[in-house]
Amino acid sequence: MILGSFATVVAYRVPRGESFVTGRSKCPSCGETIAAYDNIPVLSWMLLRGHCRSCGERIPVRYPLTELAMAALFAATVLILGTADAGELALGLALCALLVIVTLTDLERRVIPNAVLVVGAVIGVGIAAASDPSSLAERGIAAAAAGGFLFLIALAYPRGMGMGDVKLVAVMGLYLGRAVAPALLVGFAAGALVGLAMIARKGAVARKQAIPFGPFLALGGIVGLWYGDAIVDWYLHAFFPG
Ligand SMILES: [Zn+2]
Repeated sequence: MILGSFATVVAYRVPRGESFVTGRSKCPSCGETIAAYDNIPVLSWMLLRGHCRSCGERIPVRYPLTELAMAALFAATVLILGTADAGELALGLALCALLVIVTLTDLERRVIPNAVLVVGAVIGVGIAAASDPSSLAERGIAAAAAGGFLFLIALAYPRGMGMGDVKLVAVMGLYLGRAVAPALLVGFAAGALVGLAMIARKGAVARKQAIPFGPFLALGGIVGLWYGDAIVDWYLHAFFPG
């Protein structure tokens, strides 16, 4: 939950060009520094009933929801991946944090900040190099293939996809290796389902509304993290037996 709270800070400050390393948390409305006892994840939001203690401005519910979501993602990742391979688990948790941050920035501001992706890529390569250097080649190929694939789509369909999405899937490839393939499949399927549902509900108007694609890729990234290798193994076994 503390990391979830940190993710909301990064997602708020980086697109605004502020440092996320220094500076105490302030109320975006009145600028008052938030006291430590009012900065406890989830609990403080509930005790303050979602309002700033100083000015009474609403604190968006996405803050405690992000903190809960991060905690749930971490717990599920530990349960699904297990603790036997510490390097793989560290990579998985770092990927969860990265995907939560880019989901927030893409939903709020329609951007996936380069700074977040670069830091994410450096952390991912660092953990992989330290724990499993033999996997680096596969990760590099997956990053290039996934990024290249989305780059072609972005060229053909610039309104639907941005360079932020291209760079995001390249970083996902670094973390996931071959499991980035099912991650992309899930991301595209989820995006298409929501897109079709919006067209069904709102008709032609929805066609013109661009929805940010990052959150769908992030969802695919989580599925790829948890079940990607199993899906790839099943696929290879089913279609290329022996
Ligand atoms: Zn305030």
